[in-house]
This record gives sequence, C-alpha cells and structure tokens, in this order.
Amino acid sequence: MHHVPAYRSLPLSELQARAGAADAKLEACSLCPRACGVNRKKKEVGFCGVADAAKAASWGPHFGEERPLVGRFGSGTIFLSGCNLGCIFCQNWSISHEREGKTLTDRQLAKVMLDIQAMGCHTINFVTPTHQTAAILRALVLAVDGGLTLPLVYNCGGYESIETLRLLDGVVDIYMPDVKFMDSAHAARYAQAGDYPAVVRTALLEMHRQVGDLRIDGAGIALRGLLVRHLVMPGEIAGTEAAMLFLAEKISVDTYVNVMDQYHPCHKAYDFPELTRRISPAEYKHAVRLAMQAGLSRIDGETV
Ligand code: SF4
Repeated sequence: MHHVPAYRSLPLSELQARAGAADAKLEACSLCPRACGVNRKKKEVGFCGVADAAKAASWGPHFGEERPLVGRFGSGTIFLSGCNLGCIFCQNWSISHEREGKTLTDRQLAKVMLDIQAMGCHTINFVTPTHQTAAILRALVLAVDGGLTLPLVYNCGGYESIETLRLLDGVVDIYMPDVKFMDSAHAARYAQAGDYPAVVRTALLEMHRQVGDLRIDGAGIALRGLLVRHLVMPGEIAGTEAAMLFLAEKISVDTYVNVMDQYHPCHKAYDFPELTRRISPAEYKHAVRLAMQAGLSRIDGETV
C-alpha cells in the first residue's frame, strides 16, 4: 500500500488550473529564473532548448538513487531532456545539453507514469524537471484521471522560480534539489547562472515550507519532504561550508542531506584546470565534517 500522494487531495479542477497556469507561462517563458521570454508554444526555444511538449531520454526503475527513494522496487525515474543550467562538468551531457530524447505528447507522458506505477516502483522521479513543469502538470491531470497514486519526486538543479514552485504546492511530495554553488562567481563560471546562490536559497525555503523535513516510513521509504544533494567539488568550489550552514540555520537541522563524492571531470571540465581532478578522500571527509559541525543530523554520506 502506497502513501497517498498530495495531489490526490487536490480537486482535478485545481490540478487543471495549475497545469493551465504553467502552460500560460510558456508563451513568454518564465518557468525558471532565466526568464528567456520566448514563445515555446510557437516552438521557440530558450536556454533549456525544449519547446512546449515533454521530451525524455529514458524511463524505468532506477536503483542508483538515495536509499529512501529506491526501496525494493526502485524509483520510477524519468530522465528529461534539456536543462536550465549550463554546468560545464555535466555528467549527463548528451541528455541535458545535446537534448537527446523523444518528444512525448501529454498522453504519452501520462502513460509513462502509469506504466512506472504498474512496474511497482515507489515514486515517479522526474529528473531535471524545471523547464518541463508545464508538460508534467498537463500529463499529471491525465495520469491522475487514469489512476495514478505514486508520490512525485522533483529531482532538480535548484535553479527554480518561486512562482513555478508555488504551482507545485500540494502536487509534489518530495523535493530533491541540488545545492551546487554558494558563490556567485563560481556559479557564473561553471553553470552560467551568477544568481544561482541567491535563487537556490529562496527555492530551498519555499520547498521546505511546502513539504517540511523528509519523512520516511517503517520500511525506509521516503513519503514526503525535502532531500538535498550536494556534490563536493575540488578546492571547495561548491561552497560546502556555506551550504551546510544555510541548511542548518535557515532550513532545519533535520534536513536530509546527501553529501556526494562522485565528482569527476566530464565534458568541458577539461577546459578548467581546477576541475580536472576528482576530490581527495581528505576533501570528502572535510566536507562531511562541515555538515556535522553545522549541526545537521541526517547526513547521507560515508561515515568519517
Ligand atoms: S524554462 Fe527554458 S525557456 Fe523557460 S525561462 Fe527557463 S531556460 Fe528559458
């Protein structure tokens, strides 16, 4: 028996209204903080490179995610094409920046969600959803009508517009944002988003306001809440100390944080000498220690 997801408490008319509001934003796109202003309904594209229809590279059960999402039957992951960030070290370059994938109608995306449910997955996990939020909401209306009851995971880069997040209030159960950078110069240099640190702070506050700290059931499966990912980068480029202090002081000491060690140079990272190496074990230990020193109590990382 699944936990009843938040969107099941919303009248279908309200879900339709949310989808309509997100869809209207596509006409002069401001779905994310880039506010490109292009008319995606007329197939114009902005920074993210995706028009108004959903586009996905692959989908199905995924076991590589955090333990509370995976459970026995995996997280039902949908890898969406395109991205609103420009991380030069992206590990999914072909999907995010070459936008490999298949364009899906709303009905097809709804069927993908229902198929994932039929496979027994615990959640629908949208990877890189921000720029496709309108299509996700449109398809969700159809999927709910078709019997969808899995909680939705919004697995995003943290570069989110508050207005768009408000459309997801009561729709998304689990927010899984990255916190990538806390310094504007780094965010501009490595992700083409100088305002990222300011944006991610407000986005985290809004996400936590909506769903609170991560709640996990007796079987260890995530039900609802905030799950933050932080990729430790060489030379403290990710701003680990500032990120952990922000989470502990402004969000909650019970924030579930995954401190990740898997940075490896990819794609354009080779053009940046400071990013051409992995992090050392000592750097990783230091990062986890910073999280502990900040007062965070739920750190998903190797024990140090
Ligand atoms: S969602 Fe895409 S087109 Fe819209 S503002 Fe963001 S990057 Fe630009």
